[in-house]
Amino acid sequence: MIRADVVIIGAGPAGAEAAYNLSESGLRVVVLEKLSLDREKPCGGAIQTGELLEFGTPPPLIIEREVREARIFGPNGSFLSISTIHSEQSGITVKRSAYDSWLQSRASNAQFIEKAGIVSILRNKGAWNVVVDTPLGNTGVETPILIHAAGANASHLESRLDLTPLSNKGMGITCQFWLDAGQEKLDRAFKNSIEFHFLPHRVPEGYFWLFPKKDVLVAGVGTTIDIIRAKRISLKNELEAFLKENLERLGLSGLSVIRQDGGKMPMRLRRPLYGDGFLVVGDAAGVGSILHGGGIYQARKSAVLASEAIKGYFSGEVGTLSGYEERVHDYFNERERRWDLRLKPFLTDENLVKRILDRGRSDSTIREGLGILLSSTEGHRKSYELVEEASFGLIAEELDSIIREEKELIDKGLKELFKEDSELHRMANEVLLHGGKRLRAVLVLLAGQALGAELNDLLPVAMAYEVSHTASLVHDDIIDGGEWRRGAETLHRRYGIGHAITAGDALLIKGFEMMSSYEANAGVDKARVIKLIKVGCRSGLEASEGEVRDINFSPEEIESKSLEDYIELIRMKTGALLEAATEAGAILANASQENVKAMREFGKNLGIAFQIYDDAKDLLASSTVSLKSRFTDIKKGKLTAQLIHTMNSASSEDRKRLLHLLSLGTTESAHEILDLYRRYDALGYNQKLSREYLERALQTIDFIPSNPFLEKLKDIVRVLGYWTRFAVSQENQ
Ligand SMILES: Cc1cc2nc3c(=O)[nH]c(=O)nc-3n(C[C@H](O)[C@H](O)[C@H](O)COP(=O)(O)OP(=O)(O)OC[C@H]3O[C@@H](n4cnc5c(N)ncnc54)[C@H](O)[C@@H]3O)c2cc1C
Repeated sequence: MIRADVVIIGAGPAGAEAAYNLSESGLRVVVLEKLSLDREKPCGGAIQTGELLEFGTPPPLIIEREVREARIFGPNGSFLSISTIHSEQSGITVKRSAYDSWLQSRASNAQFIEKAGIVSILRNKGAWNVVVDTPLGNTGVETPILIHAAGANASHLESRLDLTPLSNKGMGITCQFWLDAGQEKLDRAFKNSIEFHFLPHRVPEGYFWLFPKKDVLVAGVGTTIDIIRAKRISLKNELEAFLKENLERLGLSGLSVIRQDGGKMPMRLRRPLYGDGFLVVGDAAGVGSILHGGGIYQARKSAVLASEAIKGYFSGEVGTLSGYEERVHDYFNERERRWDLRLKPFLTDENLVKRILDRGRSDSTIREGLGILLSSTEGHRKSYELVEEASFGLIAEELDSIIREEKELIDKGLKELFKEDSELHRMANEVLLHGGKRLRAVLVLLAGQALGAELNDLLPVAMAYEVSHTASLVHDDIIDGGEWRRGAETLHRRYGIGHAITAGDALLIKGFEMMSSYEANAGVDKARVIKLIKVGCRSGLEASEGEVRDINFSPEEIESKSLEDYIELIRMKTGALLEAATEAGAILANASQENVKAMREFGKNLGIAFQIYDDAKDLLASSTVSLKSRFTDIKKGKLTAQLIHTMNSASSEDRKRLLHLLSLGTTESAHEILDLYRRYDALGYNQKLSREYLERALQTIDFIPSNPFLEKLKDIVRVLGYWTRFAVSQENQ
């Protein structure tokens, strides 16, 4: 009978790391490994920079190839190059057998028993009695503490520990080919790079990889079991097709496959992770994930956390074993899991992958975010936040390209409105012709044409909406004391408040003049002109009501405000004008009442979703993607969905803190508020809410027969939806 302080079942990275940490602290450690210790496991053998920085680099002999560049391919075949160079450390590829042997060799004070099949495990009077069948005969081991480090396929062991075997739901699944390439060819094809291929149309929620070792190329693909079942995907077939397309590009066609492997990869954190005298680590604990490219680092990290808990147990601290579970959940959720779930939607949308990668060529934020993700040098939260920030630029760029044609028409028309050589006309042009999305005007054009209106009939009203909207911006800037608008100094700063108010008034009146400007012989009859004016008046009055409520709101009264109050406020402030714009388009098309109503509802819901999105943009978008400076609204303590959500979910201490921070109105306090919002997932709430209204918008026009203008309206919704794709569905959480 061997007596040990800790018995570890499984000699992979998790077991070996735990053996090293515990034996170094003087504990007697026995590791039981079912198979041989130097077995080659199914693994890509890519070791991320972050792991090496935290745990140290293996000796040169273990390193097959240094990795300084990751090439990320999207469905269009071009790639984005991400530098994985850290100032002191690159990533590496290894042969798993060698890497595992090295990890085991560090735990030289632990006793490893290989080819040890477990015959029985019994817990008796606070001790485990384990009987193992080894090549030298049966052996008994007694220990107070057991670590389950037996990986993804240990249901037999788990039933003996009364643990529920890992479910296939959300389970990762992989397939790999090893190709005999020779060092020279691999040097030529890859040098110090590895490749990732995101092809959601082929394998959603996953990717293909090409990891060159010294002279062997490992090609693999991974996703979840749910996906391959739902889409009836054969990973092997997909991998073969992928290789056919890619080996030629790399000058590697005709390579022979020397090994095929693959296997499961648990991607959901397990509960419980401890029991009476045992802890679970590594793949068995579900700490790895295909989404963030591995499991070796996570296996080792969970083993370190388990070792700390066990050392605490032996030094007489209470509750350290049960505390382990929370530490694992806190660490991995905060560092990786929550953020992986947020990034996951990108891996299902072909268009989005293409756009992100294309944009990444000119946007260093995207490259930095992906670099962190791939090298794991910082928590994934950082990379998620960077990609999240980059999404604002992506949305602006894409919106622009969808509505470019319509916008150009509006811009051209607006130039003709104020042509006199007077101060009033100069002021109007300064604010009117300095950029702007022209969204309201474009909505008039698209909604109208989608229902059959003539472009020429729509243009005066479309411009009227842009002019009236600009009037409201001039007045808003005075109210808010805004300094910049559309990249230029605000009118009231340049000309004084009196002049600016008057210019705003003039713009407003011009809008109504244009709405009523139809000649008797035009295609729009008088009755419709009156309708248009009524709709314009209604929206103007509602927007004014919204503005007054907005001005009146002060954060001290947040506790009396509900989500409904907020939605009503933004419906009036933003929704009313968008609602009127799409309704006006429908009226000009002489559409049926049903269609007019549908377009009105579309504009209203789009407006609400847009404002929810815009409120988040205020918190996150740097001035490179937003014409407004960051934190403008939060410093003024504006009512937002994220504020209501945080007030409803935060601890009373955090609520008090939030109210205090809101009263300060500084950039520092805004950063702290953002941290609080993140703690309570208030931005996730914003995304879900925005998505809800975008979906409503789409539903309202669903029954209208498709045409290019209607599809453009839907595209606007789709692009705004990029932001809401970050929202994690209830099911995933
Ligand atoms: C195809 C594929 C490619 C991958 N590529 C990468 C990659 O490139 N980079 C990366 O970081 N991660 C990668 N991973 C994930 C990585 O391999 C795992 O996350 C990692 O091995 C987990 O370590 P572990 O110690 O928890 O489990 P394992 O390495 O699986 O070790 C568990 C050990 O327990 C032993 N065992 C099982 N049952 C018993 C028992 N009853 N008694 C005794 N011993 C038992 C097993 O034989 C095994 O040696 C990949 C996974 C797959 C499937």
